[in-house]
Amino acid sequence: MSISDIDTGAHPSERSPDPEASVQQQFRGEREFAARMDATDPLRGFRGQFHIPKTAEGKDTVYFCGNSLGLQPIMTRRFIEEELDDWARLGVRGHAHARHPWMTYPELLSGQVAEIVGAHPSEVTVMNTLTVNLHLLMVSFYRPTASRHRIILEQHAFPSDRYAAASQLHAHGYDARTGVIEIPMHDGRNFTTETVIETIHHHRDDAALLLLGAVNYYNGEYFDIPEITAAARDAGIVVGLDCAHAAGNVPLQLHDWNVDFAAWCSYKYLNAGPGSTAGCFVHERHDQQQGLPRFAGWWGHDKATRFEMPEQFMPMPGADGWQLSNPAILPLAALRASLDLFERAGMRAIRKKSELLTGYLEFLLHTQPSPHWDLITPKIKERRGSQLSLRVPTYGRHFFDYLSSRDVICDWREPDVIRIAPAPLYNSFDDAWRFADLFNGYFAATV
Ligand SMILES: *Cc1c(COP(=O)(O)O)cnc(C)c1O
Repeated sequence: MSISDIDTGAHPSERSPDPEASVQQQFRGEREFAARMDATDPLRGFRGQFHIPKTAEGKDTVYFCGNSLGLQPIMTRRFIEEELDDWARLGVRGHAHARHPWMTYPELLSGQVAEIVGAHPSEVTVMNTLTVNLHLLMVSFYRPTASRHRIILEQHAFPSDRYAAASQLHAHGYDARTGVIEIPMHDGRNFTTETVIETIHHHRDDAALLLLGAVNYYNGEYFDIPEITAAARDAGIVVGLDCAHAAGNVPLQLHDWNVDFAAWCSYKYLNAGPGSTAGCFVHERHDQQQGLPRFAGWWGHDKATRFEMPEQFMPMPGADGWQLSNPAILPLAALRASLDLFERAGMRAIRKKSELLTGYLEFLLHTQPSPHWDLITPKIKERRGSQLSLRVPTYGRHFFDYLSSRDVICDWREPDVIRIAPAPLYNSFDDAWRFADLFNGYFAATV
């Protein structure tokens, strides 16, 4: 087997020198291939930078849940301890005199964050949590009128986004039941860019906002954001992205693509820990817009006069102007530890490995085709990140429990979807092999 076979997804029987050999026997041989891939992986050093959850016997679990909660970098503890020490040592003086002064802590991160989402540093900030940020940005950029107030989301949008959109409609006095438009899945599996654009065209006169998961959390589809953004803006619809499953996973160019605003959490692919501080993006062309409505707080006020406590709010330029409160330093320290790893690895190398690893995993699963499972993630690598979603209609829950009892950590979505996420920074090709070995064993034997 070679890397080009991964890309073409060729079945092993099509390449085998010995047509008699059973798939199962060939499959054992695959483990050596996985070992070779790991040995030559340019990112192989990064796995050791993370705590991998262990089995009862102390071996590494197969952790395929980085799209839900990324693993803890080894350095996180030290970064947080530094802040605890500075707080112990300095008390309030830490705001100005900590090794990384708390007053300006978010500014330490904006360069690294901007790199990950493809923005200018002034266009991003870290603050609050994801759903809070979506609301704050909708306050500014969802400007409904009686004839144009609908919000377009994808079917299977994460429930929080749906609740947020519906409650914004309601807060403006519109009917949330008719105000939320869903982009349908095209064939029960994928959305496709065409379906999204059709929905945009259909609602070109009555939609005010497209709020799209850049990577849909359910089937892992990575939308063609530049094309969709151009179509929506052409129709006079504001574009807001939820990048929860995209940030740190797929290459983004939020600035060049002219996206209006975006928000993301940092505990999934970005590995900043449960509930850690989220990020947001506001395109710099909105800096020119005077009088934009926004919910204000003192931390969004002009830095130069913030401590003069003036009565009149003067927002800082850029995304910083949306900050409300002084930043939570401990979660930001965790985020900084993780962003350092992203900077060292580079998104380009991360994406390269993501394509190979996800492709390899998909290839291994297809060595055991069965009517009992179906891949609902796009098969084209440009249209997905580090995630495969498997619909397992009859045996779903049973299969999931089988995996869990064999030290695989992945994710179950009612009623019948299993999501597996091989994260390139810490997952190995051998993880993919171990998962597929269990998978193939199950569908060969139990079903
Ligand atoms: C994970 C996720 C959320 C979670 O929101 P929080 O405010 O961080 O709890 C929201 N939306 C999407 C699309 C997600 O993937």
